[in-house]
This record gives sequence, C-alpha cells and structure tokens, in this order.
Amino acid sequence: MADLETFRRETKSWLEANAPASLVGQIGNELEGTWGGRKATWPNPDAKRWLDVMAARGFTAPTWPKAYGGGGLEPAEAKVLAQLLRELRLPPPLIGFGLTMIGPTLLRFGSEEQKTLHLPRICRGEIRWCQGYSEPGAGSDLASLQTKALRDGDHFVLNGTKVWTSYADQADWIFALVRTNPTAKKQEGITFLLVDMDTPGVSVSPILLISGKSPFCETHFQDVRVPVANVVHQIDAGWTVAKALLGHERTMIADAFGGAGPRPDKKGGRSYLAELAASKLGEEQGRIADPIFRDEVAAFEMESRAFALTVQRTKDAARAGHQPGSESSMFKIYGTELNQRRYELLVRLLGPDALGWEGPGFDEADLEITREWLRSRGNTIEGGTSEVQLNILAKHVLGLPS
Ligand SMILES: Cc1cc2nc3c(=O)[nH]c(=O)nc-3n(C[C@H](O)[C@H](O)[C@H](O)COP(=O)(O)OP(=O)(O)OC[C@H]3O[C@@H](n4cnc5c(N)ncnc54)[C@H](O)[C@@H]3O)c2cc1C
Repeated sequence: MADLETFRRETKSWLEANAPASLVGQIGNELEGTWGGRKATWPNPDAKRWLDVMAARGFTAPTWPKAYGGGGLEPAEAKVLAQLLRELRLPPPLIGFGLTMIGPTLLRFGSEEQKTLHLPRICRGEIRWCQGYSEPGAGSDLASLQTKALRDGDHFVLNGTKVWTSYADQADWIFALVRTNPTAKKQEGITFLLVDMDTPGVSVSPILLISGKSPFCETHFQDVRVPVANVVHQIDAGWTVAKALLGHERTMIADAFGGAGPRPDKKGGRSYLAELAASKLGEEQGRIADPIFRDEVAAFEMESRAFALTVQRTKDAARAGHQPGSESSMFKIYGTELNQRRYELLVRLLGPDALGWEGPGFDEADLEITREWLRSRGNTIEGGTSEVQLNILAKHVLGLPS
C-alpha cells in the first residue's frame, strides 16, 4: 500500500508538471478526444504534446506490457492513474478502436510479430483503426458475411463491401471479418484479418445522412492482396476472435454513452442535466423548482451514477486481465438505454428550443443537444442491437432454449 501511495504522489506531480494547462477540463470520453492516426490534425497542438508525453511514459495503455509500448502498470496503479486524471480534470491522451478493441484482442490472440508491429503504433497514436464487420446483407446475422478472401500463395485476395464502417475515411488500418471457406458451417468459414487501408484496391465512400454529417462509410475491397501473416489467430477460426472483440466493444459503448455520459460533469458539482434543469426551470432553495422534473432528474442521476460505478468496476476487472463475456451485453443494453433517456430529458427541457437544426435564433449548445439526441437513437443499434443482446443474455446467461 505504501508503494501505491508513493506511486500516487509521484504520478500526480508528474502529471501536474507535464499536462498542458489548455487541456484541463476538456474531459471527453471513450469516443470524444484524440483519435490519432496518419490523418490526424491538431487544432490544439497541446493535445499532440499531451499524447506524446503520455505515450513516452506508457500511459496511453497503462496496463499493456512495456515491450509493446504500454506502461506495464499493475491494475491497482492503473486505477490510481485513472483516478488522478479524473481528479485533475485531464482528458485521456488518446482514444480509439486501437486501444479499446483491436489492441486487447491482439494481446490475447495476436502472433508475436503482430503484437510487436501494431501495439506500439497504437500506443503512440500513430495508426487509427476501424472495424469492418457489417455488410449490406450481414448485420445482426453477422456470420452471414460474404466478403471473399481467396488464398493465393502467401496472400489472400479480398473482394466485397463492408457497410457502416465508422470513420473508415479517417482510419489507416481496418480489422475485417472475411469468408475464407464458403462451404463450411457459416461461423466456421470466417477469418479475422488486419488490412492496411493504403493497400491497392481498398476504397472508402462516405455515407451521407440527413443530418449532413455522418461517421459512416462503405469500405470496398477489390482484388486486395493481404498477407496471410495478417490473419489473427487461425484461418477459419475468426468467429472466436470476432466475439471476443465484441465483448470489448460493448463494454466500451456502455462506458462511453452510459457511464459518465457524453456530457460528463465538467464543473465538479452538478451534472450537466441538473445544471440545465436548474437554469431552464429555475431554482427554489437551491433545488430545481419544478418538483416533478426534479424527481425525474434525481431518479435518473441515481441510476446514472450507480451505473458509472458499475462500469468502473468492470474497468478494474479488465485492468486485472478479465476478458469481458456475455455480461458486456447487459452493460451495453443498460448504458445505451440510459443515454437515450438522458437525451429525452434534455430535449424535454429545451422544449421548442430543441426544434432547431442550424442557423441564427438557436443556441449552439441547444443545437448540440438536438443532434446528440438523434445520434443516441443509434446507440441501441451499434455494436449489435438491443434485441441481439437480449438473445445473447437469454441463451448464454440464462440458458434458455434458442
Ligand atoms: C452508430 C453506428 C455505428 C456503427 N459502426 C459500425 C462499424 O464501425 N463497423 C461495423 O462493422 N458496423 C457498424 N455499425 C453497424 C451495426 O453493427 C449494425 O447496424 C447492427 O449490427 C445491426 O445490423 P443491421 O443494421 O443490418 O440491422 P438488421 O440486422 O437488419 O436488424 C434490423 C432489425 O431486426 C432486429 N433483429 C434482427 N435479427 C434479430 C433476431 N435474431 N432477433 C430479434 N430481433 C432481430 C434488429 O434488432 C433490428 O431491430 C454501426 C451502426 C451504428 C448505428
């Protein structure tokens, strides 16, 4: 324990000495912050300085082995680091699917060469990853995917299209599920492959949405040659890897949306929701004036904080090496539904001000709420729909017949 106290004291002074002042209070979450990658831009150069200094210390991936660019910290030390970042109101230096999805998957299933090549580049924020799972005919029924990978010597040749690939236009590498055996049972003919998006034949077309902005893309593979060495785990055994990665993805989504929420408390006191309710509905003796709405906010806040603490415990377990299983489906449902309720409440508070989209007459903060409210509809779809999560829980947790 004395060692942990020393670690806390030394790390705190180091963070205070190295964190750029301009980033204090820019808390962010697992989906808001510095994504890194070859195409990254740095409107605030301090964000790049913060990334570099933290990566050099191994603090972008605190529990990963030092040999792969991580910090080699014990789970308890990593927890202290996370607490200190919250306490000092500092953002994580790096976020993204490298750290939350493909990194942990490679640590478990990757070859030594794959770990040595990819993990340090993830830790330094040099490579941004995207996820090539869904296809036009394979969403919930993911195992029906049809992107073909035909063996040609020491390469596979890929043909097919992935859809809803979030941020593919900004990514450098994609982890993709491809069909290597068309005659086997569908789950048994799938391979998990790492593809450099600069390879000839890979192209990306953004999908435009009515909102005018969208992270979605289609990713096309036309005769793309990928070394067999880029197979993670084994040929035709990609389904096992895919499911393990989904456990990490669902926990990350639960945390990003349901944990602290996308608008964490930035003032160290009331939540954003309570703050807005007080400003829109007025206050009486320091309490939200409208008693009915006050009750709703209080109930929501209690659930939300309890859930955030539960998510913290799952993160502690992950730091200690626990691989998320079917319980990640439970967190995913709960966290995403919580986020939808958060935005329902916020939009109700705004009333007619929530009807704006752009232009004068509307406050930018209100417009942001409207957009996030619409965005939250996707929460119960991404990473597998709520219905699919319920099926997983029924089958794998409750043991009900399928
Ligand atoms: C914001 C967002 C980001 C995304 N990012 C990515 C990404 O980066 N990479 C990627 O590969 N994909 C991504 N996706 C795609 C996502 O994984 C799929 O949309 C999702 O798995 C659902 O598939 P689908 O859209 O084809 O719907 P479908 O599978 O066609 O489902 C339609 C409806 O039928 C229901 N349904 C289907 N099967 C069953 C069943 N067996 N039992 C009960 N109900 C069922 C579903 O719950 C749903 O309501 C993203 C999606 C969203 C919304």
